[in-house]
Amino acid sequence: MSKAVVVFSGGQDSTTCLLDALNRFDEVHCVTFDYGQRHDGEIQAAERICQQLGVPVHKVLDVGLLNQLAISSLTRDNIAVSHELMDNGLPNSFVPGRNILFLTLTGIYAYQVGADTIITGVCETDFSGYPDCRDEFVKALNKALELGMDRPLIIETPLMWLNKAQTWALADKLGRLDFVRQQTLTCYNGVIGDGCGDCPSCDLRKAGLESYLADKDAILASLSR
Ligand code: ZN
Repeated sequence: MSKAVVVFSGGQDSTTCLLDALNRFDEVHCVTFDYGQRHDGEIQAAERICQQLGVPVHKVLDVGLLNQLAISSLTRDNIAVSHELMDNGLPNSFVPGRNILFLTLTGIYAYQVGADTIITGVCETDFSGYPDCRDEFVKALNKALELGMDRPLIIETPLMWLNKAQTWALADKLGRLDFVRQQTLTCYNGVIGDGCGDCPSCDLRKAGLESYLADKDAILASLSR
């Protein structure tokens, strides 16, 4: 029996990965991390989506330590999410170590439940410049986890080379475009569905959707599978 664990935030990308995983694996578990992120609405959205999709196991893990260590606009209410980049070229929403920690903890969880696949919605194409969303990083950590736990493990990144329009196309191909559009929370200001329309995350999501809706057939055809 094939078993996968999805790193699940309740946003557009991880929800699309979850829908795809439910089609491809016999059993799918979701893991959501509570790191005191800007909006606990994220965790509520994740819980609701898991219930709606009939995910058998949804674990919400407390990683408050990350909030304590990593200072970012996503972990501190008094730092506004900015469109400007910091001196190091990264946006102030970058949470250092976030995916290192999340994928490592998910690796431990997968080990415990006997799953050999982890799925994460990280993406290098339209990404915000986060270094821990890069393919090279994921492959390196995948190798480290295999060596560290002496067990085969695959970290799948189905969205790695898709742009946002193609991610919408994938949701549509899975018959769930409206579901993803209405139920997911991507907005940095905590507004569900189409969002506040004014934060960097909403900008990216909206531009992708408009691009997809304007040229559906060609973008659907561009999906490699
Ligand atoms: Zn927003």
